[in-house]
Amino acid sequence: MANFNTHLSIALAASVGSALVAVNVHLITSADMPWLIFLGTFGGLLPDIDASNSRPVKLLFFVLSLMGVATALHLFKNNYAPYPLLMIIVGTYLFIRYALFAFFNRLTVHRGVFHSLLAALFFALLMTCISYYFLDWDILHAWLNGIFIALGFIVHLLLDELYSVDLSNSRMKKSFGTAFKLCSYRNMTASALMAVCTIILYWMAPTPLPLVNVWKSTQWNSYLTNVRFLRQLKTNNNMVNSHQGLTDVEP
Ligand SMILES: [Zn+2]
Repeated sequence: MANFNTHLSIALAASVGSALVAVNVHLITSADMPWLIFLGTFGGLLPDIDASNSRPVKLLFFVLSLMGVATALHLFKNNYAPYPLLMIIVGTYLFIRYALFAFFNRLTVHRGVFHSLLAALFFALLMTCISYYFLDWDILHAWLNGIFIALGFIVHLLLDELYSVDLSNSRMKKSFGTAFKLCSYRNMTASALMAVCTIILYWMAPTPLPLVNVWKSTQWNSYLTNVRFLRQLKTNNNMVNSHQGLTDVEP
């Protein structure tokens, strides 16, 4: 399997490429790019969260524990004296970072259900719902957030599968077929549970109609044209230069 840095750089490259195409076809504006590139890259690290002690899962639980601490602080800051409040905060951090992390590791096996196309769909819909209901994004951008998570996720699965082909010996490694799969066939209970959660999320998600409408009006034939905003930048620079040239000759 590909290592953390390979996944990080390939997911980043794929996200930048996709965001540039999306800007070119008028699906998004250049202002949307940095956030969507971040989400695509994050999506590219997500499938390995079921690998015990992998960097993505440690990072994820560290972020989760910080979010837990922030929530505890918000809920209890007016009800407790500083000392008990400190105990609550430390307790929350330790519980999420270590107890919950250990529990998650015991429940999941690497390249199980989290390393599948079903999980890509699950996380895409989860991101769409979080963006729409909690982060107050409009429907179009909530769906785009979900799509970029899925994009990075699928790139990760493909990359792992590519790594299982031993090119020098032109044979398949034992891991072939475990990275890019529809769901976990070895643990059908987990797969069924994730399928149910995915259906619930789809049911909760806002209608994808605004995305479909924008998708239909995109100019797909211009996807290979020069990157529009770079071209604009160049035009702007030229304008500034010619303007400066004009002002230079003025007395
Ligand atoms: Zn992987």
